[in-house]
Amino acid sequence: MGASMLVFAFVLVIVPLLAGLALILSSRRGGLGFPACGSCHYNLTATAGRSTTCPECGADILQVGIIPPRGQRNGRLLWSGVGLIVLALTCVGGGTAMILINHRPVTTVSPRVIPVPPMPQPPGPAPQPADAPPPPPLTQSQVDAMAQADVLAALEQTSKARRGAIDPEVQERLRNDFTMLLNRLRLLRATAP
Ligand SMILES: [Zn+2]
Repeated sequence: MGASMLVFAFVLVIVPLLAGLALILSSRRGGLGFPACGSCHYNLTATAGRSTTCPECGADILQVGIIPPRGQRNGRLLWSGVGLIVLALTCVGGGTAMILINHRPVTTVSPRVIPVPPMPQPPGPAPQPADAPPPPPLTQSQVDAMAQADVLAALEQTSKARRGAIDPEVQERLRNDFTMLLNRLRLLRATAP
């Protein structure tokens, strides 16, 4: 806590607290059981209404006043004191909260990072890698046995494999398969009803 914080605490808390206590204490006027001289507390019961000066100390009663026989509280002073004490205690609470907020370690301020578990991979066909093994070579008899739907499927598979093929030997073989399948498709379409 720096010096400015101490001054702040002193001004806002200690001064009102002490002033409030002083006001509450001074609001109490202890009665002595008799009307007393405001200067020397001499019993003025016999003097009241007869003289304006204290027979004991000679003070002008109109100046020093008479202390009433019963204790009284000066309401305005009392409530001012109570208000000051409440204010001081409020400042204590607010100041404490402020200090707690300002001095809280950073580690407790930052929210805890909760590790997010990896999303489970949805089931499904694994993506075909580019270097997937090419489809097995086709023979003329196999192609001749194919229906149009099979030929179309084989054509798509072969053309895909040709795009991904790097080995020239495989590319040549796939090109031959593709030609065979294309001829079969032409034949099927020519003979179709
Ligand atoms: Zn007196």
